Amino acid sequence: MSKYIRKYLIAGNWKMNLNAAEGADLAKEVAGLVGHQTLVGVTVCPAFTSLEAVAKVVEGTNVSLGAQNMHAKASGAYTGEVSAEMLRHLFCSFVILGHSERREYFKETDAEVNEKLLTALDGNLKPILCVGETLEQRESGAMLEVIKQQVEGGLAGVSKDKLENVVIAYEPVWAIGTGKTATPEMAQEVHAAIRKLLTGLYDEGAAARVRILYGGSMKPENAPELLAQTDIDGGLIGGASLKASAFADIVGAAVKLAS
Ligand code: PEP
Repeated sequence: MSKYIRKYLIAGNWKMNLNAAEGADLAKEVAGLVGHQTLVGVTVCPAFTSLEAVAKVVEGTNVSLGAQNMHAKASGAYTGEVSAEMLRHLFCSFVILGHSERREYFKETDAEVNEKLLTALDGNLKPILCVGETLEQRESGAMLEVIKQQVEGGLAGVSKDKLENVVIAYEPVWAIGTGKTATPEMAQEVHAAIRKLLTGLYDEGAAARVRILYGGSMKPENAPELLAQTDIDGGLIGGASLKASAFADIVGAAVKLAS
């Protein structure tokens, strides 16, 4: 099945950077550069505090909005947390879940990520489920088992008809923010393994519709080759998403491949 049944998605993870005014400025630049094309999906994921300002800027453009996290419960006594409904209210379409920084610093487990993912889908948010191995896990040969556990754990209870609203991001932990990128072949190997896993869990048709993004020091220089791989359907971009021109160049690489 051709990869072009899937629309490329380039998502920017701004992490804990930029206040609301700075976020709006960056979003303005991004929307100006790539907000008019429709071949490739583009989304930016600012901090919660910038969502409203960025939503106003990207309204009416082809740049959509995502959050970086959410709570699994709908409402209640969870001081400091934000619900799926609150994110929808601010026009979020996506939510990043299970990012390795949340797994590492906030000890998020697959079960917690799964609970959030099910809530996100119920709330009409498209989850971007992050999975990836550490260097130690890769070197010990446990990589595919780790990925399997994270994919199966994260997707538990997701029905076949909801699967296409899930985006998976393969982000080798050793490549995040380090400047070290998986080679296109290394990334493709894991992406293909994830798609095979999805085929086993669902079926070939359902697996073929899921977008699997690569994340880990993706930049304009390496994006064309990574995005050309059969099972790489976009990128989750950290550092390079904070520079409008670099982010736009990555989108441009995807547009070229999709044209
Ligand atoms: C990320 O944290 O999702 C990421 C891919 O970061 P970077 O692009 O900076 O490696």
